Amino acid sequence: MPRSDIVAFQKRQLAALLEFAVREVPFYESLRNVVMRLDPFSALEEFPLLSKEDVQRDFERMTPRSIRRIAHRERTTGGSSGNQLRFLEDDSTYAREMGFMHSQWGRVGYTTRSKKATFRGAEFRGRGDSVLWQENPLHNELQFSPFHMNEGTLGLYVKKVAEYRPEFLHGYPSAIDVLAEYVVRHGLQARVQPIKAVLLGSESCMSEQRERIERAFAARVYTFYGQSERVVLGGECEWSQAYHAFPAYGVLEVLREDGSRCSEGEQGEIVGSGFLNRSMPLIRYRTDDQAVREPSLCKCGRCWDRFSNVQGRRAVEGFVVGRSGSKITATALNMHGDVFRNVIRYQYGQSIPGQLVIRVIPSSAYSSTDEERIIAAHGRRLWGEMDVLVEIVQDIPLTSSGKQRRVVSEIVTGDVLESGDR
Ligand SMILES: [Zn+2]
Repeated sequence: MPRSDIVAFQKRQLAALLEFAVREVPFYESLRNVVMRLDPFSALEEFPLLSKEDVQRDFERMTPRSIRRIAHRERTTGGSSGNQLRFLEDDSTYAREMGFMHSQWGRVGYTTRSKKATFRGAEFRGRGDSVLWQENPLHNELQFSPFHMNEGTLGLYVKKVAEYRPEFLHGYPSAIDVLAEYVVRHGLQARVQPIKAVLLGSESCMSEQRERIERAFAARVYTFYGQSERVVLGGECEWSQAYHAFPAYGVLEVLREDGSRCSEGEQGEIVGSGFLNRSMPLIRYRTDDQAVREPSLCKCGRCWDRFSNVQGRRAVEGFVVGRSGSKITATALNMHGDVFRNVIRYQYGQSIPGQLVIRVIPSSAYSSTDEERIIAAHGRRLWGEMDVLVEIVQDIPLTSSGKQRRVVSEIVTGDVLESGDR
């Protein structure tokens, strides 16, 4: 579709959503005149930005009066206690989202007949060997546990992948990178190939992870972005690594701190209004994720809203604090090259401002030279803001949903909290 048709289509979807909200949802009732009077996109700008805390506080008023006539269920998002969101979602939403997922994975050859191996936080039942993987016929996939990947088990993982012969790998960048690192280090590439593409979501993918995964599986890495609240979904295309937001999924806005719209090339917060849910419409919902707004024009011919450089939830653990109190995002610490070449997995820890502890799980090739290199590389980046220490550990626990935290910080200053929870 040409851009004008896309905008016209979105306008109709948005009009339907806003009209439903002001008619059925007490929380939005007062905006009725605005919606009647203005063009849908202008009306949207009059809607308040909605945080997770707002939804929790106004849960009853956010629920439509016609809720009994909408097939729905209650859901909660991941996150630590106190940081969770409870909300209502239509029964049809998940299935419709799968349609969008398959559509975007189709850009790198995925079909519903494709076999995949997944590395994400599913619930694993059973004992012994079966804890490491389990079949899920519903999605034609073998689910591998991201919780048990270590030097003792990774050989078994590789053997099982080789035996299963998936066409696609799907999961968290951090989990698939652990496998990739093992494959590269032991020269096992020939055993796990050919893979058509590696589908990565749920966490931002660092360039070093992307390179290593592509090297291990000789396959295109395809990343996508979405969130449990399902207000914006976007993924790479055949040509570009920028995310193309599905126009039929929701309206994307990238906003500055003051709530105004970012220009192209400018970074701001991803704010979304989802089209897939009527049982608790989330309008101008703040995702807490940051991204750069990109021009809609792309070589692939889609002219959808685009964004890039997504940086994960701005939680407290996403920052380290320098000697001078400066907040440094974990993404800024992203190391290129071979700094971590003999490290299986690492994590930043901090308990004192100005002191960064890098916890590393070393590979057998790790030596004191690696420690010196890691300290030097971070020292250069941090400009004397931090003393850098390396701590050798045997394990880096994952969160309950199987994700890896980049930074574990025990510093909770009012300042940092304010910025994180805005
Ligand atoms: Zn494109």
